[in-house]
Amino acid sequence: MNLILMGLPGAGKGTQAEKINAEYGIPHISTGDMFRLAIKEGTDLGKKAKEYMDQGELVPDEVTIGIVRERLNKDDCKNGFLLDGFPRTIAQADALEEILTEMNDELDKVVHVDVPEEQLVERLSGRRVCPTCGTTYHVLYNPPEKEGICDKDGTELIQREDDKPETVKNRLSVNMEQQKPLLDYYQEKGYLVTVNGDQEIDEVFRGIQAKID
Ligand code: AMP
Repeated sequence: MNLILMGLPGAGKGTQAEKINAEYGIPHISTGDMFRLAIKEGTDLGKKAKEYMDQGELVPDEVTIGIVRERLNKDDCKNGFLLDGFPRTIAQADALEEILTEMNDELDKVVHVDVPEEQLVERLSGRRVCPTCGTTYHVLYNPPEKEGICDKDGTELIQREDDKPETVKNRLSVNMEQQKPLLDYYQEKGYLVTVNGDQEIDEVFRGIQAKID
């Protein structure tokens, strides 16, 4: 199954992607996670991406399309994939179509996890991340057992640079502006399904399953 998960930052795409991965066994491909890993490892890609990410701006298309092309050609994508955070521009969507055609493959569904904007601001500013394993928490809605510490590996949690209040607003408006034409693009092509993301995590997941099964 070839899926794209759409939704604004904070809509819960990462959480739902983990659940989809566990249920359907398709790799979760998050361009944001790939960039963050590259930054942590100090690669050239990381250095390029960091300038943009710290400002809440999009990384240039040619860089992003290149890493996705490489990733989709790996063996573990043979039975499907779940893209999260890509495509974010029409140029990326067109490139994805080309990549899939080259692979003799096509999309199945584009799942839009829809959450009202005011909810997103609250969710994003309370989000904390484990810098070691990438698990995300929320200070109110999904706190770790011990405040500020990752349940899985005991690392001290951090707030992502782009989740800080000064960046959140710019990041949401950049994303909203970018997402609208993509929703229209996939609606026109008949791939788009929308799920209400303003519910309990498991309810959202059941909503997704109802649309993709
Ligand atoms: P995310 O974790 O998906 O919210 O992504 C974090 C940041 O990584 C974004 O704000 C962008 O700076 C960058 N990024 C992730 N995916 C893309 C993409 N498809 N195109 C451009 N930039 C991206």
